[in-house]
Amino acid sequence: MIRLGKPAIQPADLDLVRDVVASGNLVQGELVARFEQEIAAYVGCREAIAVSSGTAALHLALLALGVGPGDRVILPAYSFIATANAVAISGAEPVFVDVDPDSHAMCPARLDQALERLAREDPPARVAAIVPVHPFGRMAPMPEILELAGRRDIPVVEDAACALGAAIGTRKAGCWGTLGCLSFHPRKILTTGEGGMVLSDDDRLADAIRALRNHGIRVSDHGPDSTMPGFNYRMTELAAALGLPQFARLESTLERLDELAATYDTLLAGRSWLRTWRRPTGTRPVYQAYVVEVDTDQGPDQQTIRQRARDAGVEIGIGTWHMPLAGWCRDHYHHRPGDFPVTDRIAAQSLSLPLHLELDRSQQERVVEVLTHGLD
Ligand SMILES: *Cc1c(COP(=O)(O)O)cnc(C)c1O
Repeated sequence: MIRLGKPAIQPADLDLVRDVVASGNLVQGELVARFEQEIAAYVGCREAIAVSSGTAALHLALLALGVGPGDRVILPAYSFIATANAVAISGAEPVFVDVDPDSHAMCPARLDQALERLAREDPPARVAAIVPVHPFGRMAPMPEILELAGRRDIPVVEDAACALGAAIGTRKAGCWGTLGCLSFHPRKILTTGEGGMVLSDDDRLADAIRALRNHGIRVSDHGPDSTMPGFNYRMTELAAALGLPQFARLESTLERLDELAATYDTLLAGRSWLRTWRRPTGTRPVYQAYVVEVDTDQGPDQQTIRQRARDAGVEIGIGTWHMPLAGWCRDHYHHRPGDFPVTDRIAAQSLSLPLHLELDRSQQERVVEVLTHGLD
């Protein structure tokens, strides 16, 4: 089976994990702090707070901003369901906007329309945050989104779960918004098994997030005390030990993923029924996934292609979720096909091809052969 993804962990990475086990200090140690410092320095923000998952990072980012019941939070319709779940578990109502057909990220024009509509409600809705997502490691149009948010003084939380290392110009994903969130799930660029991180330049928010991840505990001259009810959303030392050596290789990992993506681009070029993604100039994507769109009017549907590929030994995934049509969103907010036409189309037509460091050219050729069989 040619697998969709595979973590970029090497046997030598386990040495540090073994050291942690031998030390007996499994949580709240030096490696988590080092991992935070290294990622903060790389991304280019003052503060990084490691947590137990990307979902925990989003949850704490929203709570630190004071997002809660009665608030609205605007997010793109097309993302992994965790983005919407984090909004809902914070108590706020998710307001979805359709995505751009090229970038698959939040469409600024649709965002503007949603902001206008919410401002006209009586009483006007309180939009407590805007949560753009960098889909598959492609940058969302951050300058446009920040401009619209800034006009109304709305904080931006970047869901950069898939986008460690992506950038517009030299400014990296995760340091555009008031807060940025990373994930270290096995399907992401770098994995700690489960893990996540919140990034920020705001000391006060970072302090709140540090307390919230650890039972609400802050340390003063009188010692530690719980200053608010918090969670246990901490990252373990074992996780940080797995992350640090992968982080040291990050640039070479990203370059290799770039090369693999370029090979797919070449192998797949020139087909009217298949659309590959073109990177906009001036931006650096990271290939967390290699996603193409197939014209299902001209050929079989997504599930047929995936099943046929599986039978031929190639694992092909969907792009990501149509969140408004996920069970609880649909039941609660009565979203229907047609409400988000771009998301309707790309959610039905996107396919994610195998992409990981162990893939070689002949396997990529095999993937393309299986994908295009009978369609050219
Ligand atoms: C993976 C992912 C998350 C959730 O991260 P976890 O670490 O799995 O909790 C959130 N948003 C997006 C866009 C993701 O891809």
